Amino acid sequence: MQNIFSQVRLTYLPYGRQWIDEEDIAAVVNVLRGDYLTTGPYVSKFEQAVAQYVGAKYAVAFSNGTAALHGACFAAGIGEGDEVITTPMTFVASANCVLYQGGTPIFADIDARTYNMDPNKMEEKITDKTKAIIPVDFTGQPVELDRIIEIAQKHHLVVIEDAAHALGATYKGRKVGSISDMTMFSFHPVKHITAGEGGIITTNNEEYYEKLLQFRSHGIVREKDKLYEYHGPWYYEMQFLGYNYRMTDIQAALGTSQLKKVDKFIELRRKYAAMYNEAFQDMDEVIIPFQHEDGESSWHLYIIRLNLDQLTASRREIFEALQQQNIGVNVHYIPVYLQPYYQQLGYQKGICPKAEKLYEEMITLPLFPAMSEEDVHDVIKAVKRTIDYYKK
Ligand SMILES: *Cc1c(COP(=O)(O)O)cnc(C)c1O
Repeated sequence: MQNIFSQVRLTYLPYGRQWIDEEDIAAVVNVLRGDYLTTGPYVSKFEQAVAQYVGAKYAVAFSNGTAALHGACFAAGIGEGDEVITTPMTFVASANCVLYQGGTPIFADIDARTYNMDPNKMEEKITDKTKAIIPVDFTGQPVELDRIIEIAQKHHLVVIEDAAHALGATYKGRKVGSISDMTMFSFHPVKHITAGEGGIITTNNEEYYEKLLQFRSHGIVREKDKLYEYHGPWYYEMQFLGYNYRMTDIQAALGTSQLKKVDKFIELRRKYAAMYNEAFQDMDEVIIPFQHEDGESSWHLYIIRLNLDQLTASRREIFEALQQQNIGVNVHYIPVYLQPYYQQLGYQKGICPKAEKLYEEMITLPLFPAMSEEDVHDVIKAVKRTIDYYKK
């Protein structure tokens, strides 16, 4: 590509990254000097802290968010022949967790305004095989939970909310994580807070809670009241096929230390998103993210949608021009069923036209709390001059 744009900045600005301070480092070092490295006291501390933060009764930490989703599918009883409805506009893990359990992911198209799964499209996909729904709070904007839960209850479906993007977001004043049957959060370094890797399920349901605990540790129980037999103090039982999906105390100490800062992180994300909105709202060539009045996003991602009719370049050319200016743009996401693996499973192109159209027109801009206002201005400058150059 021709070099029409000089770089607006000398260093590459990623689309997201962690913010680790000395307190976080000290918390991890403290664990390394202690007795437990794997699941010990810090894991329960972290679980309690997350449960309290979101307003849920229980939380079960996992080695990563994908493992947590797998656990939720197990706890919901997903098995061979069961269908689970999700959105194509998500990371592959939201659907893969269904495949892990032998179930079939069914994709329902998005709402063209919010980019979240359209509850009406979701309802159309329900059959007598449907067992659960996995809505995703895309970019941090909560899905229409009241509507989704109402439909789910009518059809006796479990709601597993993928809130990997939505820690700290609220729906009608309630925190995400306290509302669905089970809610998953991820602590991957690009997410709101990090544990290196990590995930958690929050729930108010004791039965799910117990199953999740057992699932993440080989299906093993040790508590006397849960055993079928008792041979002595050494005795434990593996009662179903679980996995080793445990979080370490090292991860949990980092996560707990990070959680203290989550509100500050979200405040900065909201501030930077507002700066982007302000800068782009009057540009015909760019559509800024629509926000539903029922929710308050915690802004994991900031996505612009290009009005390609107003532009002489493709999304790819604009993407590459921004990259050339050292702006770490990204695309979230390639609709899941377009992935080669899903195509091999027989999913057809065209099943969710709104998601496919969005995919052709979207660009994710850098957004993370550790960036500075100056970084935000660099992004705005690069977007404006790129769009100005390519506008009709
Ligand atoms: C990050 C993410 C996951 C998976 O979380 P990991 O902790 O990386 O396994 C699942 N769903 C969505 C929407 C995500 O963004």
